[in-house]
Amino acid sequence: MKCGACNYPKVEQVTTTMDKWQGNQLIAIKCVPVERCPQCVEEYFSPEVLRALERLIDAPHEPVDQIAVPIFKYQPLVA
Ligand SMILES: [Zn+2]
Repeated sequence: MKCGACNYPKVEQVTTTMDKWQGNQLIAIKCVPVERCPQCVEEYFSPEVLRALERLIDAPHEPVDQIAVPIFKYQPLVA
């Protein structure tokens, strides 16, 4: 498949990790298949993958792993 963003002739089939806030909970989904442009890194998800992600987010399964995530508060630069 050609990249729709930069016209690079062939996007690559790779897997990625997605993250999403669910209210005040952050969840991550790993091993998500995606086509990625090696030139401009635009990503293309198939309709099947999007449906599977929606289902997983609507009715989460037992997580395969848990990590602690450090949270920082934004601080403006001091001029
Ligand atoms: Zn591209």
